[in-house]
Amino acid sequence: CGIVGAASHKNIVDVLVEGLRRLEYRGYDSCGFAVINGNDAKHPIERARTTARVSELAEQGKDFIGTLGIAHTRWATHGKPDTQNAHPHISNGLIAVVHNGIIENYESLRAELKAAGYLFTSETDTEVIAHLVHQQYVASGQKDIARSVRAVLPKLHGAYAIGVIAQDNPNTLVGARVGSPLVVAIGDHEHFLASDALALAGRAHSTLYLDEGDVAVLKADSVEVIDQAGKPAHRELKPMPAQA
Ligand code: GLU
Repeated sequence: CGIVGAASHKNIVDVLVEGLRRLEYRGYDSCGFAVINGNDAKHPIERARTTARVSELAEQGKDFIGTLGIAHTRWATHGKPDTQNAHPHISNGLIAVVHNGIIENYESLRAELKAAGYLFTSETDTEVIAHLVHQQYVASGQKDIARSVRAVLPKLHGAYAIGVIAQDNPNTLVGARVGSPLVVAIGDHEHFLASDALALAGRAHSTLYLDEGDVAVLKADSVEVIDQAGKPAHRELKPMPAQA
């Protein structure tokens, strides 16, 4: 339902939670975030999830510090609304994913991943994305999270917007969209992802709208957009919409 992501030099837990709060009006059954502290390459992915309101997630968030992170409000399409099914979904402690939309062929992907030894901890369609990216990331041996996400996209049928981070790549946030909205928002030495730019009003000064099939690679000090053909793409900058 709602996505917020951030890559910064500062603690972004408050931006993630505040962003979710601004997306609450869209409705949701659960929410969560996952963060990495980019100052420490050994830092694990830390996650909080709840079926309570975003205000409860904010309480839990007080104990977290992260400079890179993804957050989500879920409106369940596959799998009941509960904490196990809440996003982000994590594969083997290495890859964390938030997802809006539906992966139509998730059953066959799930069967293939199970046959390859992956253990599923949720009933969602989303969890296949985390494991597919993990499989690609580990097999390539390149620690290139954007390349791994790009390699996985053609396998996913349906409409989606995703945010992805890797534990051992603590400065890179990757976003991608096909059929669901996702924007990049640009702040002061920090970059964000959101399903709706309003989530970041006040924190970002401009936005960059992604085209169908685009992959965005965000670091605190850089943004790169790669189009569906795998070529670097230039997307128009627009001022942030006025705060609601
Ligand atoms: N299909 C995903 C799920 O059920 C995402 C739903 C959403 O867009 O919130 O978990």
